[in-house]
Amino acid sequence: MQHLTLDLEIGQLLSGPPLACGPDVPVREAARMMSERRYSAIVITEMGRPIGIWTEHDALALGEDAAALSLPIRHAMSHPVRALPASTRLRDAALRFKREGIRHCLVVDGSGRSLGIVTQTDLVMNQGLECFLRLKTVGSVNAAMPLVIDARTPMHDAMQRMRARRLSALVVIYPEGDYGIVTERDVVRLAASGALDGTVGARASRPLRSLSHSQSLYAARQYLVEHRMRHVGVIGEDGSLAGLLDLSHILHDIEDEFVRELQTALRERDDALLASRANLRLADQVVESTLDGVMITDLDGTIERVNPAFTRLTGYTEQEALGRNANLLNSGRQGPAFYSALWRSLRQDGHWKGEIWNRRKDGAIYLEYLTISSICDPSGRCTHYAAIFADITQRRQNEERLSYLATHDALTGLPNRALFTERLSLSLARARRSGKRVAVMFLDLDRFKLINDTMGHGVGDEALTVIATRLREAVRDTDTVARLGGDEFTLLIEDIEDIRHVGQIAQGLLACVGAAMHIGEQLLFVTPSIGISMYPDDAHDPRQLLMQADRAMYEAKDAGKNNFRFFAAPMTSSAMERIVLESELHHALEAGEIVLHYQPEFDVASGALLNIEALVRWQHPRRGLVPPDQFIPIAEESSLIVPLGAWVLREACRQAREWLDEGFDFGRISVNLSARQCMHDGFLHQVTTILSETGLPATRLQLELVESMAMTSGRGGIEALLQELAARGISLAIDDFGTGYSSFKYLQSLPVDTLKLDRSFLADVAAPPRLMQNAARDRSIVRAIVAMARSLGVTVVAEGVETPRQLEFLREIGCDRAQGFLLARPAPPELMPRALEVCEAG
Ligand code: C2E
Ligand code: MG
Ligand code: MG
Repeated sequence: MQHLTLDLEIGQLLSGPPLACGPDVPVREAARMMSERRYSAIVITEMGRPIGIWTEHDALALGEDAAALSLPIRHAMSHPVRALPASTRLRDAALRFKREGIRHCLVVDGSGRSLGIVTQTDLVMNQGLECFLRLKTVGSVNAAMPLVIDARTPMHDAMQRMRARRLSALVVIYPEGDYGIVTERDVVRLAASGALDGTVGARASRPLRSLSHSQSLYAARQYLVEHRMRHVGVIGEDGSLAGLLDLSHILHDIEDEFVRELQTALRERDDALLASRANLRLADQVVESTLDGVMITDLDGTIERVNPAFTRLTGYTEQEALGRNANLLNSGRQGPAFYSALWRSLRQDGHWKGEIWNRRKDGAIYLEYLTISSICDPSGRCTHYAAIFADITQRRQNEERLSYLATHDALTGLPNRALFTERLSLSLARARRSGKRVAVMFLDLDRFKLINDTMGHGVGDEALTVIATRLREAVRDTDTVARLGGDEFTLLIEDIEDIRHVGQIAQGLLACVGAAMHIGEQLLFVTPSIGISMYPDDAHDPRQLLMQADRAMYEAKDAGKNNFRFFAAPMTSSAMERIVLESELHHALEAGEIVLHYQPEFDVASGALLNIEALVRWQHPRRGLVPPDQFIPIAEESSLIVPLGAWVLREACRQAREWLDEGFDFGRISVNLSARQCMHDGFLHQVTTILSETGLPATRLQLELVESMAMTSGRGGIEALLQELAARGISLAIDDFGTGYSSFKYLQSLPVDTLKLDRSFLADVAAPPRLMQNAARDRSIVRAIVAMARSLGVTVVAEGVETPRQLEFLREIGCDRAQGFLLARPAPPELMPRALEVCEAG
């Protein structure tokens, strides 16, 4: 039914004005007009208005009485007249015909004037039913056998029978066996000529035109229209008359189909309309209520529609957005290349999606996930773009927050183990290329558990946060400080040119972490122990380096805490032996295995004996004489150093008193101190006690401290101690001077009267030509130190004088004193020389 032009107005079907006559026109005259013009109906009008209609069918009612033909048509017409405005849609007219069972309808204009008559035939035949007609054969209509009557039957009888049986035609059979036909139309024609009398055979049209049953209805219709007929005989398969095909039968038949299809089509159309309306409403609701911003633009980007979410996300109201270009949202964060790629994808694929930074009305920049699709009409021409977007700034922030949480420690904000390891890997890769060193430090707080346990975790957490900040500030921005958890921190120090800097950094960390902390009302002191491993010296991979630093940290802890240790392979392997040594050392003192040897110092200029240094030895039953380097560190780590140091001091003082009593004037007796020993609380008391118990005058005693002790323990303690010692007349010397980082300026503030210049300086002074450059440098250093010491009023002792040339050099630069194998080796007390024979000999 797609050919049906259902929206056609019935006015358009009219071929011309209707056949019309006045009400007083005789029936016969009206019949003549219809017959002549071959119209099936005539409209009776009065003053231009239709008042009735007379049709072919009405003609059958005309009686035998010829006078009836002379009566005015007004008596024969049907009324009132059904009329439809010309603007009535064809579909509405067709349905009305069907519903009311009418075959004719007057078409009137807006003012009620008749424009023409529309018949059912018009409605059906005008509407492209050809396809139906072509598909059906004449036989398929199943035309009934017509009423066949004898040719001698009177015309009036025939008309009566047609009317009674509502036939529009009947077939006449002649004595010869052939057929004729009488139709309603013939009746009108006969009425017009006043010839309704006589036999039907004489009035019928003869012969009856016929078609084969196998012809299509389309052909039949063509035939009927062409011959302006409405009936045609149907010849069956056997060649005899099988029925009478009445155009109205065809129409009736296809009309049912037509109406059925029409109704289906209308219903479908209505349903589709309803559905599409519903869809539209639904789509509308979705757009209006979705949380995603929606913006529809034309092809130039001019905004034609936005939804409430658009306003919420961008800050622009509908009024502000409509008519503006979509680029009002541009943030400027994306360059032209970004937009040209976007447009390319839109044109090629019809859509684009991705993340884009846009600008809100208030200027704020936000990240949105955007999908743009082109919208095309049914012909495929694109007419609009639809942009749908969601603000994902929050989501992105959440993602970043999550990844931050995954890589950072929540309490201190420092990188965690995962991130530290990652950075370490990267750093090692860089170091491999640059050839520089990398240090990994493992820092653990000493006795931190105690703070948590006694002051609560709140204080503990605050302390950790303070320490994290201090560590961060103590290193360069390029270095990494991480918290592994608990009180464990790690540091990654890159680009190390000189390994000594690592020690300096560690020293700095000890100082900054160890500084007093105010937490609430509390004053807190926390010290760290630091283990250090070096790339590439110790290991090449991150895991190994971390493990080694960890191990070194434990060694630092073992060594008394609050200090640092490097990891070194030999250290690890000797660890076992040290444990054995340590346990043996515990018994050494009681077993009397500890002894003192003595080494004198002489005046360089005069060769006079001015000092004797006491040097401890361990007379080990199996190992023989063990030098102090091998057991003093162990004693320091195990706190054995306190009783050991006390014993040495007592023994040295005792020996010195004995020498004095013997009349041997050795000058002063010098005793070495270790850091742990002199930081011990009772140290000052101990010194005073020993001096008084042995009866040695304080002025006969010199105490030697290594440089680092004097320098790092700058927390008031050592300085105050030294002042106390000096106040008692005890001489103080800095041992191994030049190996640490002491400054003269600082030394000046200490009550130190003697510097013992480390023997490494003298070693190169008289070196072979190959090392001449070093020799020259060392000479100038020694010269400078001596000069500076002299200006400060400090005595300089050169250690490790082994050759006459070294001694000669010392004499040359005016160094005060000398000590060394050349002059006298360390020896038991009974072997002390009373004067410097060698020197005099040289
Ligand atoms: P130090 O105080 O610098 O002692 C001087 C060291 O240099 C001694 O080694 C001595 O034997 C050595 N020496 C002296 N002249 C020469 C020389 O011409 N050439 C060479 N190559 N070496 C020379 P020693 O006795 O092995 O002592 C080593 C270190 O052990 C001492 O260095 C000192 O720091 C420490 N020490 C020794 N006795 C004690 C002690 O009773 N207590 C403490 N805390 N440390 C001690
Ligand atoms: Mg010494
Ligand atoms: Mg020394």
